[in-house]
Amino acid sequence: MSQFSQHSFANQKALIRVDFNVPLNDKYEITDDTRIRAAIPTIKKILADGGSVILMSHLGRPKDGPTEKYSLKHLVGHLQQLLGTTVEFADDCIGEQAVSKAGQLKPGQVLLLENLRFYKEEEKGDKAFAEKLSKLGDVYVNDAFGTAHRAHASTAVIAQFFPKEKRMFGLLMENEVNSAEKVLHEAQKPFVAIIGGAKVSDKILIIENLLDRATDIIIGGGMAYTFIKAEGGKIGNSLCENDRLQTALDLLKKAEEKGVSIHLPSDSIIADKFDANANDSAAPSNNIPDGWMGLDIAENACEQFTNVIHKSKTILWNGPMGVFEMAKFQHGTKAIAKAVAEATAKGAFSIVGGGDSVAAVNQFGYADKVSYVSTGGGAMLEYFEGKELPGIAAVKA
Ligand code: AMP
Repeated sequence: MSQFSQHSFANQKALIRVDFNVPLNDKYEITDDTRIRAAIPTIKKILADGGSVILMSHLGRPKDGPTEKYSLKHLVGHLQQLLGTTVEFADDCIGEQAVSKAGQLKPGQVLLLENLRFYKEEEKGDKAFAEKLSKLGDVYVNDAFGTAHRAHASTAVIAQFFPKEKRMFGLLMENEVNSAEKVLHEAQKPFVAIIGGAKVSDKILIIENLLDRATDIIIGGGMAYTFIKAEGGKIGNSLCENDRLQTALDLLKKAEEKGVSIHLPSDSIIADKFDANANDSAAPSNNIPDGWMGLDIAENACEQFTNVIHKSKTILWNGPMGVFEMAKFQHGTKAIAKAVAEATAKGAFSIVGGGDSVAAVNQFGYADKVSYVSTGGGAMLEYFEGKELPGIAAVKA
């Protein structure tokens, strides 16, 4: 059993770093509450134990202190509904009001603090600021995987002010870390990594790290064309990072040396402009006419990738196969989501992470048909790049 599950929070004030960085519309309504819902089991366990909860989070990227748009007070109503209990709000995360409201909390009560990033000290990882926050609770719980790759005051620096038995991960963070560990260290082979999205430069480190672990790497999305051009293909106006052609060749060579199969899309859905209403057609990915660009993988590539996915026992997916935001160019991403779901149903362990691939599995209705959907985009990427995440390291230290 984990430290969190074993800990009894009775009569304790748990200071929880959550990731409530949710999108709000211009009426300050939450348009996607996934991140809030993800933290509810942790909060409920503490309340059920007879503890009280102090929630701290950031929201957006406020530049100059308190800003209406980024106030966490907009979340209070929805949080109350999800928890089925009253949520108090402190309009500052430190200072007299926060101290007094936290001090008065009774077992079963919940307090939400104002946006941590209204203080520049948060992102700077200021020690004095972290210490002030730490005084609000008896126990520190980090349940914010989405910010675990940041060495901020509330995500990492604060941990040192709690003894080891009083600092721990929440249930969400435990799940994230356990799922990621399973893929990185206990992966059953064949292990396929499906890497897509726009830029090679963003994904070089993850590909390099996975070369030591995966048996197959599928490369799709806009980044595939840099590889195809590097191999001498004609890619028309497709996305290409010309300064990464050599990097792409180096990665292909390393893969060969290590016996990892790299799969590039054999054909593409091409368009005459980057537009939802563009004219479209299909072409071999290495023979795209001038004036046309590859915006999705086409039928043969879908089949080629599906076959690899179907024979895999471990699947890691980060990044879409095409411009899935446009209906004409979402077929490839949908086909891959379907293949991952089918492989999962046959017993593979699958993890999907990274903002856009998560949006895609949600949009296409496959979120509950994969083994794990990660809530942390950047954090997940850095984890699979093999980096130690400050938010995890600080609690474990
Ligand atoms: P990333 O944030 O790097 O995972 O990239 C995700 C973005 O890549 C999405 O917004 C997609 O629309 C975009 N994308 C995927 N495939 C292509 C492509 N072939 N050409 C241009 N953009 C693409």
